Amino acid sequence: MNASATIDRSKVKALMQTEQQLFVERHPRSFELYQRAQNSLLAGVPMHWMTRWPGGFPIFVAEARGATFRDVDGLQYIDLCLGDTGAMTGHSPQAALPGITQQLEKGITTMLPSENAFWVAEELQRRFGLKYWQFALSATDANRFSLRLARAITGRPRVLVFHGCYHGTVDEAYAWLVDGKPASRPGNIGPQVDPTLTTKVVEWNDLAALEEALRPGDVAAVLAEPVMTNVGIVQPLPGYHEALRELTRRYGTLLIIDETHTLSAGPGGYTKAHGLEPDILTVGKPLGSGIPSAAYGFTEEVGQKAHSVIQPPYADTGGIGGTLAANALSLAAMRATLEHVLTEAAYRRMMALGEQLEAEVQDVIKKYSLPWHVTRVGCRVEYLFRPNPARNGSEALAGQDPDLDPFIHLFMLNRGILLTPFHNMTLISPETTPEQVRRHTEVFEEAVRALLG
Ligand code: PMP
Repeated sequence: MNASATIDRSKVKALMQTEQQLFVERHPRSFELYQRAQNSLLAGVPMHWMTRWPGGFPIFVAEARGATFRDVDGLQYIDLCLGDTGAMTGHSPQAALPGITQQLEKGITTMLPSENAFWVAEELQRRFGLKYWQFALSATDANRFSLRLARAITGRPRVLVFHGCYHGTVDEAYAWLVDGKPASRPGNIGPQVDPTLTTKVVEWNDLAALEEALRPGDVAAVLAEPVMTNVGIVQPLPGYHEALRELTRRYGTLLIIDETHTLSAGPGGYTKAHGLEPDILTVGKPLGSGIPSAAYGFTEEVGQKAHSVIQPPYADTGGIGGTLAANALSLAAMRATLEHVLTEAAYRRMMALGEQLEAEVQDVIKKYSLPWHVTRVGCRVEYLFRPNPARNGSEALAGQDPDLDPFIHLFMLNRGILLTPFHNMTLISPETTPEQVRRHTEVFEEAVRALLG
């Protein structure tokens, strides 16, 4: 039985039509710009996935500040999407601006190091516990470079990811299970090779499958989020991380933990909060308050090995890097963000608001006896239209609701609240307020009443 069977599906469809109409009526200027953009932008958007926003066309933003933004039609929003974590700092955070704008005046990129480089590396060392650091412009690149280094270090050809994962546009991570077998993930555009040649895929939380995949000794690295966040949140079962670490060590496979989203768990991500011991850790998105910035760190042992596989005459053409990687502006932005924005004090506030959001949504679920649940990773909270938490990617995918998921996004948007696209994820920034969280709960309850009424 579908978990949300108590909700009349024809009603959802009717409500959706009303919301759709409301959306069009309220965004004439965005629609006008979208029409005009058809002449110069592929599909009328600067980045193709922007076609997936609810409402049929994306709203154009006039200005974003803190945890809010205003669109070109003059409507104001509470932003719980925060650029899908790129703006977890809040938009243009005031505390980071002096560091960023001063650097803008002092040179943006030189291909030479600046002192901020080791300030940031030492701070990342302190937060995450890994010894050596390198920088990139995106979490995608941090993951790609880490996988290359892992293969070079171990001399092994393959990597392992979990079904339902997303680690950016990393070719090797575009393998999923299809009908229980590894395959190219649906929609994979023009893969250069079949990703099953490079990648093994198992379900999250399945230790037997993991061990079977590692046993042949051909897997260079496991690339994992510590909590899956891109297929809906899927938490690790108790003991899973300990076993993952033990098995990867036993079979000589490096463990890469991708903290890009789970940075919501605390200043040192989930790794620090739960005492994980990755060989390599990657992180990106909000690290520079939205200025393209990412980092990847190694344990001392793995860092030394990584250093040894980068061959001197080819250090610039070894397949890792980028002209703008570790540029002065990114480093200044990372320093300003770590020093003044994503501070311990900010996290304490964000965590408390995450707890508030989770508790309030839980209360609504309980009040109306809905077969739904809510889950949280620090200041990231997600509600899912199914009774029990998924234990792996397959369960999470099966639990997605093709009617309710788009409905809740559009209903919220029409009432001035932006959720993360593709799933019902809400994120708290240092500038989010208890009143904004409360407002989200009110609208959530309003949506529930509309669905049940
Ligand atoms: N890792 C994770 C866990 C992500 O969710 C994402 C993007 N959603 C990335 C890496 C890639 O980030 P970017 O698109 O900024 O490269």
